[in-house]
Amino acid sequence: MAISAVDVACWDLKAKLLDVPLSKLIGMARPKIPAYASGGVTSMTERELSNQLSGWVEKGFRAVKMKVGREPERDLGRVAAARNAIGPGVELLVDANGAYQRKQALAFADRFAELGVTWFEEPVLRTDVPGLRLLRDRAPSGIEIAGGEYGYEPADFRRFLEAQALDVIQADVTRCGGITGFLRNAAQIESHDLPMSCHCAPALHVALGCAVPAVRHVEWFIDHVIIEQELFDGFPRPEKGELKPDPLEPGLGLSFKRGEAAQYRVRI
Ligand SMILES: [Mg+2]
Repeated sequence: MAISAVDVACWDLKAKLLDVPLSKLIGMARPKIPAYASGGVTSMTERELSNQLSGWVEKGFRAVKMKVGREPERDLGRVAAARNAIGPGVELLVDANGAYQRKQALAFADRFAELGVTWFEEPVLRTDVPGLRLLRDRAPSGIEIAGGEYGYEPADFRRFLEAQALDVIQADVTRCGGITGFLRNAAQIESHDLPMSCHCAPALHVALGCAVPAVRHVEWFIDHVIIEQELFDGFPRPEKGELKPDPLEPGLGLSFKRGEAAQYRVRI
């Protein structure tokens, strides 16, 4: 993760020295990238969950993600409430963060599919690669099995790819070796003809999302969005559920708000 941070900073610096936006430096396969709004944590009441997700739909997002798995007995009710709140035309994604057992996850996949869930992220532990493969093979056809956010090195992604364990591979530029690592991993994922999705840190993924054809969307994760908005000028603002790189600002287009950040300074 430290290497990733340094790598992103080096790409930002290179683009600034060349006086071009990062999106232009790495190339653009498309001018903008869809984003999905992500939150829906398990500590929320059903009313809070419904309000959050429907609020994002009102803002123009066409896909939203919620967490499941902490209290399995509540999950069907929560997912049904979410579907009810967002209506039929919006994609509903769920993320279990590895909380279920294999057959429990399979049973939930059937029920989630009935509620129109199209994405089931980390249904079982990410280290249970045969379990993910079981889910990918046996979950209903309308529901994709996603994972990969904890991929740090190319071998971590290769393990999922060789095992054919996932339908969509998530990669996180803050973990997988920065811009350089993301592009390397994208090459091997594309060689397996699988779609990708960018995990969290939306401001760092906009240019990559536009550059890599395999990327389907970027996660607009609410906790990171709050941090980006508080600490950076130039953070990406979604328009109709899509993110666009700034065509003029060099580098990532972000500037650190030192004054705002000062209150969080740690003195050692
Ligand atoms: Mg996740």
